[in-house]
Amino acid sequence: MISLKNVSKFYYKKGIIATGMTKVNLHFDLGEFVVITGESGSGKSTLLNVISGMDTYEEGEMYIRGRETSHFTEKDFVEYRKKYIGNIFQSFNLVNSYTVYQNVELVLLINGFKKSQIKSRVNDILGKVGLKDFARSKVSKLSGGQKQRVAIARALAKETDIIVADEPTGNLDSKSAAEIVKLLSEIAQDKLVIVVTHNYEQFKDYATRRIKMHDGKIVENVQLKKTDELVLEEAPDEKTNRAGEVGLRQKSRTDSRRNNGSGSMSAFNKLRLGIRNTFNVIPKFVLLFIVFAFMLVAVTSEYTSYLSQKETAENLGYNSYFTNLRPDRVVLKKDDKSKFTADDFATISEVDNVAEISEYDVLLDKEIYLESGDFYYTARARSVTEFSGKLIGGRMPSKPNEIILTANEDNYYFSKKYQKKLIDRVFKIDLGSGGDYAKVKVTGIAYSKSDYEFTNCCDMYMSDKMLNGILTETYHDSSKIAVDINGKVQTVETGDVVYNLKPNKHVSPGNAVVSNEFDNFYNNGQCKGKEIKVTVSNIYYKSAKKFKISEKYSEKNFKRITGISDYDMNGGLIFINPADYNRLFTNDNYQVTVLVKDKDKVNETKKALANVGYDPLPLRDVIVQNISNLLQLIMLPVMIIILLALFFISYFVIKLILRTRTGYFSILKMLGLNEKSIKRIMDIELITIMLIAYGVFIGAAVLTSMGYISVKFINDMVKYMNYENYAILLAVLVAMSYLISGKFSRSLFKRSSLGTFREEE
Ligand code: ADP
Ligand code: MG
Repeated sequence: MISLKNVSKFYYKKGIIATGMTKVNLHFDLGEFVVITGESGSGKSTLLNVISGMDTYEEGEMYIRGRETSHFTEKDFVEYRKKYIGNIFQSFNLVNSYTVYQNVELVLLINGFKKSQIKSRVNDILGKVGLKDFARSKVSKLSGGQKQRVAIARALAKETDIIVADEPTGNLDSKSAAEIVKLLSEIAQDKLVIVVTHNYEQFKDYATRRIKMHDGKIVENVQLKKTDELVLEEAPDEKTNRAGEVGLRQKSRTDSRRNNGSGSMSAFNKLRLGIRNTFNVIPKFVLLFIVFAFMLVAVTSEYTSYLSQKETAENLGYNSYFTNLRPDRVVLKKDDKSKFTADDFATISEVDNVAEISEYDVLLDKEIYLESGDFYYTARARSVTEFSGKLIGGRMPSKPNEIILTANEDNYYFSKKYQKKLIDRVFKIDLGSGGDYAKVKVTGIAYSKSDYEFTNCCDMYMSDKMLNGILTETYHDSSKIAVDINGKVQTVETGDVVYNLKPNKHVSPGNAVVSNEFDNFYNNGQCKGKEIKVTVSNIYYKSAKKFKISEKYSEKNFKRITGISDYDMNGGLIFINPADYNRLFTNDNYQVTVLVKDKDKVNETKKALANVGYDPLPLRDVIVQNISNLLQLIMLPVMIIILLALFFISYFVIKLILRTRTGYFSILKMLGLNEKSIKRIMDIELITIMLIAYGVFIGAAVLTSMGYISVKFINDMVKYMNYENYAILLAVLVAMSYLISGKFSRSLFKRSSLGTFREEE
């Protein structure tokens, strides 16, 4: 069966050569029950490991069924072990989290047995070792003797010719030990059983041969009993194998009891095993789940908070909003981002310390210049319906272009000398960046109620019609405008003329009049009759509208078509109907400002407003935020560094958790599973947990978007993540799982089989 000719084994450690065994000559046959004894360090384990292909040898030759093994690679030895060797260890090396049945089943799965064969076979063998009643028990709950029986059952299940056992009774009490010895001797009837022990007494009644080692040499080799000539067909394999081929694919034995599997594990069984392992060790499952979930949450929230900060910063920066940083000003949005209603105004006005609600928040940041002769004012536009003071001169406005002007008592223009000159005076006001002016007439004057520390501003009260005109222009000036012309999107900055929008009463609703340069966007050189899409966005709202190009202008016919004579200042604009223009740039109210009575209590007011369902931003805080916007520049690299750090932290934590699985995968390897299959099982295990974490994560996102749950970071996530982001995230996790399992299985196979077990002990 197996022969050793002058086999020597040396260990190299830190440049020192230790002798494991020297010039060992032995021959073993089927049916033998060989017991190897000798003092500690005499080379018993070395000999056993060489025989079982767990370790290589340096000198001599070992023959298995007449075939040389000295040129075997590690891969060949995996096959060798799978085909010939059943191992039994002092420390059992069972999968503790598996049941007895699953432990025995494992070896059959690895060797590619069919499911139909496995069940009866496992039960047969469990009957043989007396563990039928324990099939469903977890191995961790068994006694030492029972565990060793499971190990024997597992070795038997493989149907190998050789069973090697290193100190199989070393961890057992004498009664259990005696039972195990008896069991092994029964097995040895038709197999070759080689046992290492330092307690020969336990074996002496059954051993058929005794070998004694000393200092790496065989000092005694006695045949104790004649064994049956069980040499069934010791035909050397060389005959069936082509010369030079390592081939372990020897012809299977004719013995009818042999019922070997296909030899390799099926993809389905790998999947089954991988999934079984996923849920097998609960703490490991939970830990891995937490790491994956942590990574998902951390990566997404970092990424989305970056996007959200970027958006806020961009909006603030672009619109140059909040130029009015009055310390008594608190900007309010609703928590659910919906528009403000009359109910909201009622709720807010009841909050302590609220002096005034400015419905058109944007107008606070709009300073209107009033100019007439030597009078020069900047004022804030308000509706005449908000006026609650007392006129100190003149009358209330009655026409759309009439206003009330207010100022502090100590204002220079409100001195007795000037007051009279103000009444009925006509001022020119600038409506917006479009360069349009309107004329207003002061009909009444009053003292302003609040005194602003930070602005010299007066209030001017005007008709709602005029106020809306100013509001529309203000929205226009603070919006991002994007025009989609035949699929090419043009963006417009404040103050740009080309592609900017302007109301023009010569254009009918739904139409647009554009420059003939637009022809260049179309293949047939004809823009007339085509559709363009205009998208308007600012921090308050986003709206879009399509227009049909009804006419195009050139410098020559500009005046005739638009009624405007100044082509140089207006050429390039898109003209639309005033009603369309108003609809695009006047929208519902999604943000208001509250002015507080006592600015020192603004923090308390902020809390009170938050308590009744609003998202308050005291402008004092914006000053700080504006500074932090300068840090924008370093935000992107910081985000990338954080994402990479998160990836590597997760990577190493997962690797650490997997270290606890070394024992398990070493067992698979010992049972003859190759590197590729081990990697596959590990892939399945990791990817299953990862998918569960990912599923929970997506589930939370779906529930959020359906409105069932509301967690700030998930809300943000749903808002900023798109399908592509989710797909990239999944791809990164899959890649990470593959990377880790690849690295792990490679390191598992880099060490010799022995090494992996040593580490585990
Ligand atoms: P036994 O099993 O009889 O106690 P071993 O076969 O384990 O003895 O060891 C035989 C000799 O080889 C001892 O001198 C031991 O120190 C040495 N040896 C065994 N394994 C290693 C190893 N991995 N590295 C270095 N020396 C080793
Ligand atoms: Mg030993």
